[in-house]
Amino acid sequence: MAKTCAFKAEIRQMLDLVIHSLYSKKEIFLRELISNASDAIDRAKYLALTDKTIAPEAPEWGIVLEADPEAHTLTVSDNGVGMSAEEMEEALGTIAKSGSKAFAEALREGKETNIPELIGKFGVGFYAAFMVADSVTVESLRRGEGQRAARWSSVGDGAYTMDDGSRTEPGTSITLHLREDQTQFAEEWTLRDLVRRYSDFIAYPIRLRVAGKKEEDKKDEEKPLNTMVALWRRPKGEVKQEEYEAFYRQTLRGVGEPMRVLHIAAEGALEYRALLFIPKSVGMEMLMPGNRHGLSLYVRNVFIGDEIEELTPSWLRFLKGVVDSSDLPLNVSREMLQDDAIIRKIRADLTNRVLKALAEMAKEKPEDYDAFTAALGDFVKEGYHSDWENREKLTELLRFRNLKDGKYVGLRAYKDAMAEGQKAIYMLAAETEQAARQSPCLEQLKAKGYDVLFLTTPVDQFIAPEFQEYDKTPIVFADKGDLGLDGDEAKKTLEAAEKTLKPTIEAFAKQLEKTVKEVRLTTRLTDSPCCLVQDPAALSPAMRRMMEAMGQSVPEDKRILELNPEHPLIRRVAEEADEVRRGEAIDLLYGQACLAEGTLPPDPARFNALVAGLMGR
Ligand code: ADP
Ligand code: MG
Repeated sequence: MAKTCAFKAEIRQMLDLVIHSLYSKKEIFLRELISNASDAIDRAKYLALTDKTIAPEAPEWGIVLEADPEAHTLTVSDNGVGMSAEEMEEALGTIAKSGSKAFAEALREGKETNIPELIGKFGVGFYAAFMVADSVTVESLRRGEGQRAARWSSVGDGAYTMDDGSRTEPGTSITLHLREDQTQFAEEWTLRDLVRRYSDFIAYPIRLRVAGKKEEDKKDEEKPLNTMVALWRRPKGEVKQEEYEAFYRQTLRGVGEPMRVLHIAAEGALEYRALLFIPKSVGMEMLMPGNRHGLSLYVRNVFIGDEIEELTPSWLRFLKGVVDSSDLPLNVSREMLQDDAIIRKIRADLTNRVLKALAEMAKEKPEDYDAFTAALGDFVKEGYHSDWENREKLTELLRFRNLKDGKYVGLRAYKDAMAEGQKAIYMLAAETEQAARQSPCLEQLKAKGYDVLFLTTPVDQFIAPEFQEYDKTPIVFADKGDLGLDGDEAKKTLEAAEKTLKPTIEAFAKQLEKTVKEVRLTTRLTDSPCCLVQDPAALSPAMRRMMEAMGQSVPEDKRILELNPEHPLIRRVAEEADEVRRGEAIDLLYGQACLAEGTLPPDPARFNALVAGLMGR
């Protein structure tokens, strides 16, 4: 009783693109099918731990490739968990995977050269078969009691057909009828080569049967094509960099080359092996803590699950890799992992090792660490904010762009390079490095030759309030409160100016009554007439705009306008007798102070009109 059903629209679109793609490395379809077969065996073994009906006969787990060079067919079979008719429909056609739409979009945007990466990223590996086949048939018998064989087939034209199947042994066989120009995938040597290249460390034997072979040539059919040794089980010194990289890309779906590889073999009280990869960069979605992430977990070579978030603190979610524990029971479930003492120990140990690796990188390969900071530095900052146990180490790993030479500088390096007599570490939070660099609040600091660290990423804004002091040196924000740089002399001059300029300060305060909470004199400025600052406890303007952009209501918090008593423009305002003119001058100066920190004047139209009027005169 065959029935024909239409694919979900997004799957149809994606298939269409895959079929017509000019992508040259179509061979990756094989890696995808083998990896699915291996996943299916992993799953069967896992389910068998708690369900006796899954694998009562304890089979020899394995994958078989059957090639027929004459008929142009290739079949990939496994004795894994199999699929029921419903599961097949779900996995291969009706329930649109969230990935397929995004995949189609990315493909259409012309990033076609990245097909393997896209396939991995969006989890649509099965459909890669249609790059080389004009028809695909899946025969499956689900493991467990009372299951019936089912068949799925499609020519990739928008519909698929479901029917009763003919498989008698549990597992799945996927048969590809190869396109005329892709028949090399039914040739023995092509297949041997591809398995060795892409699937060598698949943990189950992959055997090859070639139709029409002479009896005497058949003896090596029993020998697996792959070596099967999990990379992390091999001694560190014996694994080549290329092998790590192949594993990173093919098994972990990493993009490009990893930045660092950590091959861990922990022995003693805690026994585990791990392969961790620090990527060169991550997608935007990673910045959202809700995004699924985490390492894969194996127990003595048996796959337990991927995206195990318990294995790493959230801030390390950029890591890719696997952990293989010898101490956990085989039947450990995801729920049990949540407060398992061994998992907690592994997490602490892994975190320490990553922190150590980063500290080493910062010390020995500062250029690499700069690249790491540029790509992933926000994660370290998130760690600084959230991982209290490791705060000290994380503090040393923080980097910020500095005023002096626009480089990444850490707190230790900043402190070591402090000028003679400098008593504080200076920071400034702003939306961009450029805005920070141009802030009038830095004038006095620049004049003194002091360096300033710029906090310019969204995470920087978030952690800014946590910077109070470092190694007993206070941290002062350049746009908050008193910079503490004035000697007695300067203080006296300021007090005197406060007396003479009292009416001017009052005029400013009255004119800007609704916009600022205070007007006062400052020594912070050397070149600019005025600037906007705030109380030490207030949210930075950059943080405020970020919160507003996220739709949060932010309590109103007026700024403080500081005037430079030495500046000729301030003196001119003081001398202006015409009240209207004085009001206009104050509005202009205030608007400029806003622009100086990257915000618009409160009434841009009026500001424009005033500037035009001024130019007219
Ligand atoms: P992914 O492997 O990322 O889930 P695929 O497109 O490769 O995506 O596979 C889709 C789904 O089809 C799998 O998740 C699995 O449920 C099912 N599947 C594919 N191949 C097999 C197989 N050999 N045995 C059992 N299930 C399979
Ligand atoms: Mg897959």
